[in-house]
Amino acid sequence: MKIGIIGAGASGAFLAIRLKENNPSFDVTLIERNDKILKKVLVTGNGRCNYANMGDLVGKYNNELANKLLKEFKPQDIVAIFDKYGIHPTYLDELVFPTSMSAQTVVLMLSKKIEELGIKVKLNENVIDYQKKDNKFYVKTNENKYIFDKLVISAGGCAYPQLGTDGTLLNILKKKGYKIETLSPSLSPIKTKENTKKISGQRAKGRVTLLNNNEEVYKEDGEILFKDDGISGIVILNMSARINRLNDKKNIKLVVDLAPNSKAIKQNQYYEYVAPKIAEYLLANNLDIHHLVFTFKDFYEYKIAEVSHGGLSLSEVNDSLESKKEEGLYFTGEVLDIDGMCGGYNLMFAFASAEKVSKALGE
Ligand SMILES: Cc1cc2nc3c(=O)[nH]c(=O)nc-3n(C[C@H](O)[C@H](O)[C@H](O)COP(=O)(O)OP(=O)(O)OC[C@H]3O[C@@H](n4cnc5c(N)ncnc54)[C@H](O)[C@@H]3O)c2cc1C
Repeated sequence: MKIGIIGAGASGAFLAIRLKENNPSFDVTLIERNDKILKKVLVTGNGRCNYANMGDLVGKYNNELANKLLKEFKPQDIVAIFDKYGIHPTYLDELVFPTSMSAQTVVLMLSKKIEELGIKVKLNENVIDYQKKDNKFYVKTNENKYIFDKLVISAGGCAYPQLGTDGTLLNILKKKGYKIETLSPSLSPIKTKENTKKISGQRAKGRVTLLNNNEEVYKEDGEILFKDDGISGIVILNMSARINRLNDKKNIKLVVDLAPNSKAIKQNQYYEYVAPKIAEYLLANNLDIHHLVFTFKDFYEYKIAEVSHGGLSLSEVNDSLESKKEEGLYFTGEVLDIDGMCGGYNLMFAFASAEKVSKALGE
């Protein structure tokens, strides 16, 4: 069986390996527009690649399908398979990294596996269209034409277009009549109506509460980084994922307590709890250290967002992530309307969805 995979990112590369390991007779081709495979994996986790999370999955994804797939193919399974490939785990609390603490190890070991297994890799080839005719898939790139028995779209979403993911395949799917859920940057810093320029570059620890129409939606503690026109930091990236899940985005506020473990701090004590520049900013604007309100204006652009929210509607696929419209066409990873919070959840979904498709194609 000839299988084509569009996109040699996290999910496409893992799928190719699992397919070939379990079905050595399959002829598997990865088509990648970049000059190397797995380019995005290199920048994950600040170059350390947080590839799994052993903690609770409740609320971590915008859709329960991810949780379902990760019950079938557990975080422990991912860690065990990676270990077998030479990517040994190191745990920072629940977060899993390679022992080298380098994403390069992950890319190197997966690339080695791809070579060992004889998977064909076509680099610098941009897929511009595909057609299904007489039970075959005809794939057109800027360079070549290919014919496959089965086709998998693993082309990612719209985040970080500088590394190849600009939503080309989602546009192709849209033209073919597929439903695409509204796309938006996620795990992105947040632009606020309040002016933060005076404290740009400053960091503070705090508790952030997300309010929608004055109702509490989500709360998390973490480090906040102030930017010229907004706020960032992991806790804020997670807030962006939660904001994306809201239907009504008109009245969204982030309330920050910069001293959550100390009650009723007086203004003359502010310098004891936050960096001097932040204390000055609070005092100059007569702001309460326990109740700093930021009004959501927008997300930052795709080029600094870690993932995109939205994508191919889950109503377009069956339980095996196969298209309901075009039999033999499958999808993995971020191209689907599934996104997770910070902490290894997005890569875990990429691998779990790849495993699901690998099993379906192997049957
Ligand atoms: C800065 C940053 C840090 C991150 N850190 C983490 C982290 O630590 N942990 C975590 O879990 N997640 C992290 N993520 C998210 C994670 O990297 C993605 O969710 C994951 O890579 C998605 O996998 P994928 O296979 O769906 O797509 P991708 O890995 O994005 O791969 C898609 C591939 O398809 C190729 N492609 C696209 N269109 C075409 C075309 N027309 N023709 C040919 N090829 C095409 C692209 O070039 C790309 O190589 C991070 C993301 C970023 C940007």
